[in-house]
Amino acid sequence: MRDRKPALSGLSLQDLQSALKDVPPYRGRQIFQWISRGVPSFQSMTDIPLSLRASLDRQYSLYSSSISAHLDDPDGTVKLQILLYDQERIESVLLSDGADRRTACLSAQAGCPMACVFCKTGTRGFSRNLTAGEIVEQFLYLRSFGGAIANIVIMGMGEPLLNLPELRKALAILTDPEGAGLSKRRITISTSGIVQGIRELADAGPDVRLAVSLTTADPELRERLMPVTKANPLSELKDALLYYQRRQGQRITLETVLLGGVNTREKDLQSLAQFTQGLEAIVNVIPWNPVEEVSFEGKPLREPFRNEIERFKGALEKLGLKVTQRFRKGRCVAGACGQLADFRGGESAG
Ligand code: SF4
Repeated sequence: MRDRKPALSGLSLQDLQSALKDVPPYRGRQIFQWISRGVPSFQSMTDIPLSLRASLDRQYSLYSSSISAHLDDPDGTVKLQILLYDQERIESVLLSDGADRRTACLSAQAGCPMACVFCKTGTRGFSRNLTAGEIVEQFLYLRSFGGAIANIVIMGMGEPLLNLPELRKALAILTDPEGAGLSKRRITISTSGIVQGIRELADAGPDVRLAVSLTTADPELRERLMPVTKANPLSELKDALLYYQRRQGQRITLETVLLGGVNTREKDLQSLAQFTQGLEAIVNVIPWNPVEEVSFEGKPLREPFRNEIERFKGALEKLGLKVTQRFRKGRCVAGACGQLADFRGGESAG
């Protein structure tokens, strides 16, 4: 078990200044700024008096977690395994688009309770929600590997909208202009479709971008692929998305993980077109990444064929939908969508 001194990484500037009540507010601000730069120790805070650095070191830790392993993919993806104070392990991924635009993919939970059948994280089960500090720390660790990060996606392990209070705190810290100063417009929360969470996000923010892992809009198939559908039916999900759009005025991304021969049918195309009616949405097609341990009703899943992907995208466009395709990244380190769970390399990208 790591040092259990309270960690400062999960405190907003205001909370930090309140916690350090014997320290002048401007010192609190300096300490907040040092933490948001990801310094390794209090000793590195060179404009803080030595006596204060020593005192902070006795009472607090900077971070509550540590990097326990990292893997580099030849395509520029970095995958980190992070060890939490209670020995839980999570994963975070840094994706690079080749034009030096880096995206941090962060986890919101250790494991995931949603059990989507095509996702490796879903096979691992759920351990616990992450703290705000554990979410902030993932960003700081990833940045130490790749320099500036332009975008954050909350698409790693877990269902973010089941951990909204801690996620809110973490994003407030990461977007604070006194700290990392990230733009909210460059942050995306991806949900499996938690209706209540979408409504809370619509009412109380943060006003970041929203993506929904839809996979199919055929209710019967979606219930079999994504058990979340039972308690969050597609009709209620659609109402929540319309409500979100009225309140936030932002375009929504509908992610469709394409599972070869499963959700690429005519019925999936038609239901998707119907689901998007009235929504300002873009469909992001994500060819499924191979995961050994998962199967669908006793049968192995397969990647969609290239012509299957093209046919699906083309048909959606003909139906008048806006469509993008996510580039495959990180497959050599099993850091691609749906592959986070046991820390090891994946298969070669082929
Ligand atoms: S796809 Fe997302 S919500 Fe579904 S099991 Fe995997 S991590 Fe959880």
